[in-house]
Amino acid sequence: MGTSVKTDVGTSVMWNEDWASQAACRVSQPDQLFVRGAEQNKAKKMCAGCPVKAECLAEALENQIEWGVWGGMTERERRALLKRNPNAKWRAVLEQARVGAAAKPVTV
Ligand code: SF4
Repeated sequence: MGTSVKTDVGTSVMWNEDWASQAACRVSQPDQLFVRGAEQNKAKKMCAGCPVKAECLAEALENQIEWGVWGGMTERERRALLKRNPNAKWRAVLEQARVGAAAKPVTV
């Protein structure tokens, strides 16, 4: 079984354990990422170029966080990904994706 992770996972190969301190959104209003519906597609533009997008997304997926934009994905996008891959180890998947990002899409 294979499913593409259709998100840019950043350019750094090293996993950042202190990712929150590097978040592109750390200086914004948190409410901007916790909007509803189609507004989330606008909100996730804030994630473009965030250096810790993979770490942020892994946090949301591993903890099944249901609200808001995390790692450049809306709650609907994350729900669909979790439904397709209920047993995935997301940190490992996203670390692999980051390492192989320049070569090809990653499957889980
Ligand atoms: S990926 Fe988006 S939500 Fe996550 S830390 Fe970066 S800017 Fe914030």
